[in-house]
Amino acid sequence: MSDKPRVATTSMCGCFGCHMSLLDIDERILKLVELVEIDKSPINDKKQFTDRCLLGLIEGGCANDENIHVLHSFRQHCDLLISVGECARTGGVPTLRNSVPLSECLEEAYLRGPTVYNPMQLIPNDAEIPLMLDRVYPCHEVVKIDYYLPGCPPSADTLWEALVALLGGKPLDLPYGLIKYD
Ligand code: SF4
Repeated sequence: MSDKPRVATTSMCGCFGCHMSLLDIDERILKLVELVEIDKSPINDKKQFTDRCLLGLIEGGCANDENIHVLHSFRQHCDLLISVGECARTGGVPTLRNSVPLSECLEEAYLRGPTVYNPMQLIPNDAEIPLMLDRVYPCHEVVKIDYYLPGCPPSADTLWEALVALLGGKPLDLPYGLIKYD
């Protein structure tokens, strides 16, 4: 097995935009492949961890019990966890549902919404479907997070500079231009 540092990524309650931004590092992805081994990640569709990872990149907040399980698994397998983007940092757009009781959200989505056709009047509750949480949680409310990258999504340059710093054992001290959004 390669002795390169391993990086894992996951997308929880997000839109995959942060992963798209990571792919936007363009030709630097060749350098990234030289520097690291990608472990569990939607990038390579590897479903399980194969070894301990140096970095875990988390996209999205926690909206259901599967997200919680994934986040605990990343904390267990990764030395450093990074909340990537606003959904991971704050819960992001999905937290719009936090001001409404979960039962009302489900009734609106499956029973009362103007485009709903549901003659059986059933709200899906199969055991295979992840159980929705009472609200959407930012990742740091579930596990310890070591670093945060702001943005929706963080730019490719922000992600690249963060990876280079952390892989080089340096502190994450990004220039203001890479972490300001106005
Ligand atoms: S932070 Fe923005 S780009 Fe990233 S998952 Fe959330 S909505 Fe998508």
